[in-house]
Amino acid sequence: MIDKKLLIEKAFEAQKFCYTPYSNFNVGAALLGANGKIYQGCNIENAAYTPTNCAERTAFFKAISEGQKEFTAIAVVGNKEGVKQGEGDFCAPCAVCRQVMAEFCDLKTFKVIIDSLATVIYLFSVFSSFHIATHAQITAECTPWSCYSF
Ligand SMILES: [Zn+2]
Repeated sequence: MIDKKLLIEKAFEAQKFCYTPYSNFNVGAALLGANGKIYQGCNIENAAYTPTNCAERTAFFKAISEGQKEFTAIAVVGNKEGVKQGEGDFCAPCAVCRQVMAEFCDLKTFKVIIDSLATVIYLFSVFSSFHIATHAQITAECTPWSCYSF
């Protein structure tokens, strides 16, 4: 049983540590490992843009760098600076983050909690119109670049 409210709280907690001087759009994520541990992440911007890291990937990379590679759910919250909690908290993962999720998560069961009302979406069903490349597809179907053109 996933404690969605706790994950959302942890995502809001992580949001406070954002570094967003360019967009002022603050995102927090809380990733639940199969080990029961919660890994938090925030977005970290950079003047050169591409080194910017999303909150979701920050959480994933923290977890993976600590040895956890199986996950059950992630909560993502985000809004412009100054927006009150509960107003405009919706934040869906970007394509790059979905690609990272596809690498480590079961697309049919991994839960993405995308707002403060604890709405759950499944990576596979909601994002099936996008090409999320799995490791098997990359090796079987794709040229190196075709899988990354979302
Ligand atoms: Zn992202």
